[in-house]
Amino acid sequence: MAVRRIVYSNEPMLHEPSRRVRRVDAHLEELIEDMIETMRAADGIGLAAIQVGVPERVVIVEVPVLRDDEADVSEEPPETELHVLINPEIVEASEELTEGIEGCLSIPGWVGEVDRYTEVTVEALGREGRPVRIHAEGLLARVFQHEVDHCEGVLFIDHIEDPERIWSVEEGQEEAVEAAQERPSD
Ligand code: ZN
Repeated sequence: MAVRRIVYSNEPMLHEPSRRVRRVDAHLEELIEDMIETMRAADGIGLAAIQVGVPERVVIVEVPVLRDDEADVSEEPPETELHVLINPEIVEASEELTEGIEGCLSIPGWVGEVDRYTEVTVEALGREGRPVRIHAEGLLARVFQHEVDHCEGVLFIDHIEDPERIWSVEEGQEEAVEAAQERPSD
């Protein structure tokens, strides 16, 4: 496994659609392992293959598991769930939108407010090549939308028309989140 270089938004490839994966093979597994290592090294919660320079429709997402007893969470690191999605597609989406703050490992130093569907259903192939269908809400739904956008060559800043909804943060502050935290709806 290896940490790969992250592609930044000034590089044209990040604005182009990625191609569909044809074969789930050892080469793809190596890419997935490197993506996981790269995402974790950067403290991200999601990564698309194009962000390590591979224009194929592969995304990974790793977010904290939501628990009912969230108020009681102790200091130990939160449990996370890892999703590996090959050729992901959003097949259903709620009418309702939620505003939230997002960052992107490819746009260091910047975050912005983006409206996303509150709930989505994603269909894809899983890591072993078998079809999966996942219903997601909250942060997981937001990160899925952010990462599927990468497969289309779309960045979160492309959704922001009002310049007041994007701002710079201290170096390192945005890295905690590739697609950041939910805010209480207001
Ligand atoms: Zn991103």
